[in-house]
Amino acid sequence: MFLAAMASIFIGIVLMLKQQEIPNNPSSVNVVTSENNGQSIIEPQNTLVAESSTAEEKPNSADASLEKPNVTSALEHISHSTIMANEELTYIDIQDGEFDEPESNETTDENATSYEDDFIAQDDIDDETIERIQNEAAQKNAQQEKLDPEAESALDSFLDVADEALRIQNQFSYTVARGDKLADVLEQSGLSANTAKVLEKKFPQLANLSTGQQFYWVLDKDGELEYMNWLVSEKEEKIFERKSKNQFSVQTIQKEGVWKQDVVKGTLNGDFTSSLKAQGLSNRQINQLAAGLQWQIATNKLKKGDKFVILLKREYINGKVTELGNVEAIRVVSGKKSYYAIQADNGRYYSLHGETLGRGFSRYPLQFTPRVSSPFNPRRLHPVTRRVAPHKGVDFGLPVGTPIIAPADGVVEHVAYQANGAGRYIKLRHGGQYTTVYMHLSRQLVRPGQTVKKGERIGLSGNTGRSTGPHLHYEFHINGRPVNPMTVKLPGTGSGMPEKERKAFLVKARKIEAQLKL
Ligand SMILES: [Zn+2]
Repeated sequence: MFLAAMASIFIGIVLMLKQQEIPNNPSSVNVVTSENNGQSIIEPQNTLVAESSTAEEKPNSADASLEKPNVTSALEHISHSTIMANEELTYIDIQDGEFDEPESNETTDENATSYEDDFIAQDDIDDETIERIQNEAAQKNAQQEKLDPEAESALDSFLDVADEALRIQNQFSYTVARGDKLADVLEQSGLSANTAKVLEKKFPQLANLSTGQQFYWVLDKDGELEYMNWLVSEKEEKIFERKSKNQFSVQTIQKEGVWKQDVVKGTLNGDFTSSLKAQGLSNRQINQLAAGLQWQIATNKLKKGDKFVILLKREYINGKVTELGNVEAIRVVSGKKSYYAIQADNGRYYSLHGETLGRGFSRYPLQFTPRVSSPFNPRRLHPVTRRVAPHKGVDFGLPVGTPIIAPADGVVEHVAYQANGAGRYIKLRHGGQYTTVYMHLSRQLVRPGQTVKKGERIGLSGNTGRSTGPHLHYEFHINGRPVNPMTVKLPGTGSGMPEKERKAFLVKARKIEAQLKL
């Protein structure tokens, strides 16, 4: 017993030391570059002495340049459809620990926090839950009476596709908007800012992104960056691929394709994916479309027979369309109404009238700036077990009964109770990509399926479930992955255009409207 206790203390100390040494040696990597047959190799140096001669000893650089991306078959198009006129392969080495989250300086208030707020498999039953289930059943019955089976299957199919498009395993895509840094791009998949910092340090070009550039990337099963495709311009593409735990290869591809603007039309006929794919759209483009539309359209209003027109800029090689391209505008016609999402020069999507899509997010789901009792920390140590127990949200110390407000417009996705975990909790969905979670509540003020407006009260804070003091545990998810609610670049915030830019946009939008005729 004593030995076990000693061992656990020892492991705790080792873990603590391991974490502490991370921020101290972020620059222990020396980089040596040598030019050889058009290939540059960046070599890792593990010691403090830089020995440039070792760069020549690096084997396999020629073999590696012949390798095709082998992440998933979905990526095959890149090697098939692109003429590699000029190819350059570079190795980037990332040291152990560089991907780690730096330890937070904020102190933890042991009196108001939660160490095991992961969702457990099943929600518990209490009076409110029984009431909720009854209400859900009643709602379902009412819905079934309203919708005919055809409309329902079309709706299901659309929701499935939107879901699939946004979450195709661990694949992500993003169009750079003005002011975006690589960290903002990678945060879409929940990657820490450190991943971006490391890549920028080794590859400075990544520190200066341009509006409209596109990223497509894949995470491995451990949530680490495995593959990243950067469409630098119409003529240049860079592929970053992890070769071993700490090493990335970089390939530069000069492209000889021709870019053309296409108008693609279709009708929603029950299978949204296949009707879009039949029009030559890739998963990535469907993903872009869903993201561009997410604040515009209530997907439950779409029916079989609804029409869409899409304006695309696409690359052709030898007359054949490749899967590279950009969705410039979308019009969806449902009933007698048209919904538009048009890309501005700043990379973001706006309505026909230059309005931003979505009213933006508040930083806090509260009417005031709260005190943080425990910060977001993917590598938090449990104070008793000394095990790593990720803290996927931020804790705000609050008196029981403090009103919690929706930080953005959304729909209540889930309300439940877990005695051994989250306590009473609420999950809201905002558009297609964002969800927020509120735990340890004393009371819920909303029901599943209900629409909420930004600023509307959704519940009262409490101390339910596994909680050591009154507080709110708040999570912010992008594409299903938790990110730091205190630092995340909030969607829709500051996305309004300056007057001059807005005028130019309105001129462009009028032209595009004319192109989007059915
Ligand atoms: Zn918490």
